[in-house]
Amino acid sequence: MAGPQTTTDTTDTIAAISTPPGRGGIGIVRLSGPLAASIAVQLVRLRQPLEHGRARLADVLDAPDSGSDAARIDEALVTFFRAPHSYTAEDLVEIAAHGSPVVLDLLLHRALDLGARLARPGEFTQRAFLSGRLDLTQAEAVRDLIEAQTLTQTRQAASQMGGALSRRVGPVKQSLVELIALLEAGIDFAEDDVDVTPQSEIFRRIAELTPPLTALAASFARGRIVHDGLTLAIVGRPNAGKSSLFNRLVERERAIVTATPGTTRDPVTERISLDGIPLELVDTAGLREGLCEGLEEAEQLGIHRSREALADAALVLVVLDATQPLNCEERRLLAAVEGRSALVAINKSDLAKADSHVSEVAGIPALATSALTGEGIAALRERILALATGGAAAEPGILTSLRHHQAIAASLEALVDAAQANAASIPHEMILLDLYRALWALDSLTGQTTSDDILSLIFSRFCIGK
Ligand code: GDP
Repeated sequence: MAGPQTTTDTTDTIAAISTPPGRGGIGIVRLSGPLAASIAVQLVRLRQPLEHGRARLADVLDAPDSGSDAARIDEALVTFFRAPHSYTAEDLVEIAAHGSPVVLDLLLHRALDLGARLARPGEFTQRAFLSGRLDLTQAEAVRDLIEAQTLTQTRQAASQMGGALSRRVGPVKQSLVELIALLEAGIDFAEDDVDVTPQSEIFRRIAELTPPLTALAASFARGRIVHDGLTLAIVGRPNAGKSSLFNRLVERERAIVTATPGTTRDPVTERISLDGIPLELVDTAGLREGLCEGLEEAEQLGIHRSREALADAALVLVVLDATQPLNCEERRLLAAVEGRSALVAINKSDLAKADSHVSEVAGIPALATSALTGEGIAALRERILALATGGAAAEPGILTSLRHHQAIAASLEALVDAAQANAASIPHEMILLDLYRALWALDSLTGQTTSDDILSLIFSRFCIGK
């Protein structure tokens, strides 16, 4: 794979502590660049010479030179990877010492004295990208992997790191390049008997490119929530059982449950993982539309906040009390959430008449639950999940970042323009401009044509040492 064009100088040697700050069982100092090995041998006293892919025992000494009065302060394991067979495709050394900040700082500073430069955030991964060892979607996946909070997110990141997204885009790009070559040939060799590609052929080829890109763009619906998660606001009148349902979903006692209405004043939030999708539950104060005059100030504040929570949430769970008729506030609330991704839980089903089986309230899908007995809770989880994912199934190589989605959308847009230009019998030179735009957008996804500004932005979000 050819490396992308860049002006960044990668000939210097970088160093960083790659493990999190603080004390730990072990801590790792990493070096990458042409001087990595020569710095490492001066940094510690190796018991055997460095060899590619092998871990070597070494002593960390308290003084820079290994003179006789230098005392051993730690033992380390030094692993050397020779270019290009390393993470960065450069010479790379990892020194694993005990996780003492003093020892790690000493090693780092000594490395800097010996000619290394402190690595910028994400610079090791950036070098892997610049050397062409990883494309941009794979490099971005490294960060996603480190930041993943659920196993599903981790799997998703690992699959992207393995190139799943690039593999999905690859064939489309290949076909696009072929179409471009066909049109270019027709223009370059117009006098040399090369047939001009017929309009119908161009149309057919563009039409073939669109469905895989459209499918990819659609995968963002699930990819985005796998990546970012969603907020679910739980709303309803006081005492309907919002906190109890919240606890059922969270499966541990977190929100305060009492029999006195209106005690959940601040929205209480908790992150859960619903089938691997991170979901932030917000338990709001009871909405008491139009009844606010008689309330204490603190409660008023809670109601205000719960309105905000409701406005911000992607999903809404309206909790009704099965033992109470719908009141005017609840009708208003149901009208307010109409058209949004909402569900109704008719709670306290254990106290209600057994035959009241309702599947919908005011046009919003509903189901019976009992926070007390647990009835309907599993179904509630499933319904929330379906609402969250919009029914989109998990598939490999989905889009999880807005940047990727924008690239695919831009490519599709350019293809639409190309198809229109073709239909209007516009000269091939002009159609080519649209096709190049489509290609450029796909290349920006994998990093071949991503501007340096965007690259810096992407890698600056990494931690130091990665
Ligand atoms: P919130 O004000 O809407 O948050 O309601 P809470 O969760 O604090 O519940 C109010 C009262 O109803 C508490 O005494 C709960 O124990 C009770 N409760 C909640 N859900 C159920 C249920 O499904 N069945 C029964 N029988 N009681 C419930």
